[in-house]
Amino acid sequence: MFLLQAPQEEADALADLIRRMRREVHTCSRCFHFTDGELCSICSDPARANGILCVVESTGDLLAIENSGAFKGRYHVLQGVLSPLEAVGPEDLRIRELLNRIPAEGIREVILATNPSNEGEATAHYLLRLLKDRGVQVSRIAYGIPMGGDLKYTDRVTLERAMKGRREF
Ligand SMILES: [Zn+2]
Repeated sequence: MFLLQAPQEEADALADLIRRMRREVHTCSRCFHFTDGELCSICSDPARANGILCVVESTGDLLAIENSGAFKGRYHVLQGVLSPLEAVGPEDLRIRELLNRIPAEGIREVILATNPSNEGEATAHYLLRLLKDRGVQVSRIAYGIPMGGDLKYTDRVTLERAMKGRREF
């Protein structure tokens, strides 16, 4: 409705923008985040910390972490999660590229930031097995009670993990 009622030039401009975006935006050759250049803005930023990689499922997850400002290292976008039901195996994800980056970039720590879903957990465990003999420290993002949440409505697994992941106050 908005587009039908918008001025013709605005609708044309939006159509051009979508066409250009589809033509010019592709994935970064290093981390697989979206970019219109060879490397994305994060990979080409000299101010970011080297040696620490945050592994995420998707660009959406990368942007969420970026918006939090909680991480200043580099990323690796898997472009999905392992899912036997949907016939997604390791070769469908950017896992080989991740392993290649460890020696190539002198990575010392890998943070597994896949989602706390069954697939995200399975993917994190699979990656842990591959990474543990490669001389890198591997960590998993902590789970907790969301801000504004209520303990009595929190599921058992989240509570259990929040308890295990407690830290000194
Ligand atoms: Zn990149």
